[in-house]
Amino acid sequence: ALAGAGALAASLAACSGGAAGGDSADGAVDCNVGISMPTRSLERWINDGEQLQKLLKDDGCTVDLQYADNKTDQQISQIQNQIAGGAKILVVASIDGKVLAPVLEEAKKQDAVVIAYDRLINGTENVDYYATFDNYKVGQLQGQYIVDTLDLDNADGPFNLEPFAGSPDDNNAKFFFSGAWDVLKPYIDSGKIVVPSGKAPASDDDWASIGIQGWASDKAQAEMDNRLSSFYTGDKKVDIVLSPNDSLAIGIEASLKSAGYKPGDDYPVITGQDADKANVKAILDGEQSMTVWKDTRTLGKQVFTMIQQIVKGDEVEVNDTKTYDNGKKVVPSYLLDPQVVTKDQVQEKLIDSGFVKASDVGL
Ligand code: BGC
Repeated sequence: ALAGAGALAASLAACSGGAAGGDSADGAVDCNVGISMPTRSLERWINDGEQLQKLLKDDGCTVDLQYADNKTDQQISQIQNQIAGGAKILVVASIDGKVLAPVLEEAKKQDAVVIAYDRLINGTENVDYYATFDNYKVGQLQGQYIVDTLDLDNADGPFNLEPFAGSPDDNNAKFFFSGAWDVLKPYIDSGKIVVPSGKAPASDDDWASIGIQGWASDKAQAEMDNRLSSFYTGDKKVDIVLSPNDSLAIGIEASLKSAGYKPGDDYPVITGQDADKANVKAILDGEQSMTVWKDTRTLGKQVFTMIQQIVKGDEVEVNDTKTYDNGKKVVPSYLLDPQVVTKDQVQEKLIDSGFVKASDVGL
């Protein structure tokens, strides 16, 4: 639906003055936005938050940006403060997607519109939209990269795989895992891939059994240390590590390094996600094979567009209305496209586009 002139006028007033309180006419909403991000410890969330804040402020919106140190209680109280401060739109990248229902109930009492950012929020009617990258596709890209790089359809094998999964409380983690597992499982079933540690979930549903809490690098490192010392004795070598993201990959790479693995022919294929600087450097140094790049600038822009549409009382554009069931409703979603970046694509995709600076990755 197109906004009437009244709604447009109201949105201009709301966005240029930045005045809080008081609903505007014709379904328009004050541009008073609370942004809640999980942690400053991961590069991407810093970029995500600051970028969206800038887009909104430049447009005249009132913005409160908070980081929760990966602590759910802290995230809940920060959102409570934003509601108390009159936020009309909440953008939340949840730490634990299952614990925000009560605080979002509060948000709804003042008719705040809630956008789940990157991670779905579960078990509540009170989430209006979801904007993310296609999480299942992230996993598929990782799995397919492994299949293509080792030419699994033609090679003899068997190849030794060590799979990892993301944080059990993060709704995205199961999508990453099942996307990858759906590609890799047939090769496990046929015996072309084996998992010496036995840490291969029987099905997609058991992914959390190999999840790394809080996406912590040190926990991934310790887990890989254990697997290497217990299951890779003699001349047995790891050929493949399925790592769902870059923070896990960094820990796994440190573990491999201390076990004596060096970049070169016997070095395993290792996947990642996010194009964090340290990992881009690892890719250039041959210590990581690829990363799935999610250009978080496009996610920020998409959420900014959603907010503009909400503020004007326009229909909010989505491109997926069937995938993300949060247990109470299927949340209308906008899914963006992730893409693979390998060593020979770093320059063109990451540096030329300005996503990372050459000097930050040792170039
Ligand atoms: C995000 C990833 C990120 C991970 C750890 C996931 O929900 O989608 O991009 O690597 O959280 O922060």
